Amino acid sequence: MTLVAALLAAVTALLALDGAGPASLFRHAYLVPVVVAALRFGALGGTIAAAAAVLLSAPFVLPEIERSGLTSEASEGLMTFAVLALVGVLSGALRTRAGRHRRRYEILVAIQRTLADAAALDVALVRVRTALVPRLRMDDLALVARDGDRLVVAGGDRVAPGSLVARVLDEGAAAFVGDAGGGCRSRRAFATPLVSGGRAIGVLAVERKGEIAAEERAALEALGAHVGLALENARLASRQRQFAAELAEKISVARRELEELDRAKSAFVAIASHELRTPLTALQGFSELLALRRLPPEEVSRLAGVMRRESKRLGRIVSDLLDLSRIERGLEPALCRVPLAVEPTIAATVDVLRQGTATHPIAIECEPSLPKVAADPDALERVLTNLISNAIKYSPIGSVVRVKARALGGAVAIEVADSGRGIPAEALSRIFEPYYRVPDAVDAARGTGIGLTVVKALVEAHGGAVRVDSAPALGTRVTVVLPASQGA
Ligand code: ADP
Repeated sequence: MTLVAALLAAVTALLALDGAGPASLFRHAYLVPVVVAALRFGALGGTIAAAAAVLLSAPFVLPEIERSGLTSEASEGLMTFAVLALVGVLSGALRTRAGRHRRRYEILVAIQRTLADAAALDVALVRVRTALVPRLRMDDLALVARDGDRLVVAGGDRVAPGSLVARVLDEGAAAFVGDAGGGCRSRRAFATPLVSGGRAIGVLAVERKGEIAAEERAALEALGAHVGLALENARLASRQRQFAAELAEKISVARRELEELDRAKSAFVAIASHELRTPLTALQGFSELLALRRLPPEEVSRLAGVMRRESKRLGRIVSDLLDLSRIERGLEPALCRVPLAVEPTIAATVDVLRQGTATHPIAIECEPSLPKVAADPDALERVLTNLISNAIKYSPIGSVVRVKARALGGAVAIEVADSGRGIPAEALSRIFEPYYRVPDAVDAARGTGIGLTVVKALVEAHGGAVRVDSAPALGTRVTVVLPASQGA
């Protein structure tokens, strides 16, 4: 201000010293303090400085008009008044507008910074409010945002039904209250929606003792739209981060599962080769014996029995492997379904197994007049062989293995029960996985870990279901339910 006053005084002194009256060229120098004041203090400063310049230069112009009328020199002096007033007001107004724009820009930058790092909506809203309060120069400021069904409020306790904020939230349009009480100097309230995607996701409400001009309200509306967008962006960014974290977790779980599967497969290759080699070695050894030696007939028939048993075992393992390879390629097992009587199939399978092992008595209990099932005879035989072999493998020598069949609605339930080691509860959900073997049971019996996988796939391909009930140390019961044949 002092600088402006000094400049005005200096220009006036120059005019006086020059003595050229209203036409003195020094009169243009008044533009300097007027522009300085406008740039420094805005519209008001520019106007006051222009008025002061006009008043100070008037003693040089007005006496001339009085003396000689409106001479060309006096007209120039009057023209200078007009130019000074125009420059002062215009440059001041431009300066004021530029200042307003800068403040708005600073507010937007502050909001962006506030929402840059991940935070819950409650925290983000409080941060935005803290950034806005000193910049908007209001007496009170509240922010409300929808979060699903609830409303998050910063700067107010709650949103009262029927209040200005509730109205703006419902209608999605800004509202102004010109007199919100407040004694001699009335309070004014203004609320504007926080807009995102064309809908109100919240409200920015302000209150001030004194005027909230139309221009300021328009700026607040624009700010509301910006805050809405910024909040939505922050919400999207946070959702994206959460999604990325979930994806990373899923990928790592999938990788772990793949690694585990890979390990299981390697173990399986080792076990399967061993499982295949054992019967092969027996077959090789006994066949050589038969070819090279002359043996008594009873010994020949004993060796032939062993060879038959081992070749059956080999055949079973190969069938399971072929089925597994189809399952792993996402194909259903190849089936040729016919109406099949359950009891004779059970009896035939048990017969074959009895020839192979005398270690466990196998009891068959079938309800009379069971309906036939629609099944592939070879597949049902493999299911039964797998289940009965497991019952034998995982139960102590001498204990009874029971195979039962009963009618169950439009189906037949076949149960294979043993009183063996049982399966721990935590392993029950995994026994149908390919290559899975209960760790404790690995040393108890030989196996590949694919038998139950094949059983499940075969039974499900028949439209049936498998269920396992087991209690450690008490025994295991596997129930297979197969739909009855329609024509049965
Ligand atoms: P395996 O060739 O190892 O027997 P399966 O797929 O037939 O493979 O069975 C998977 C695992 O389930 C077995 O390794 C064993 O630990 C467990 N299991 C299956 N049947 C029984 C049973 N009757 N009693 C106890 N454990 C069983």
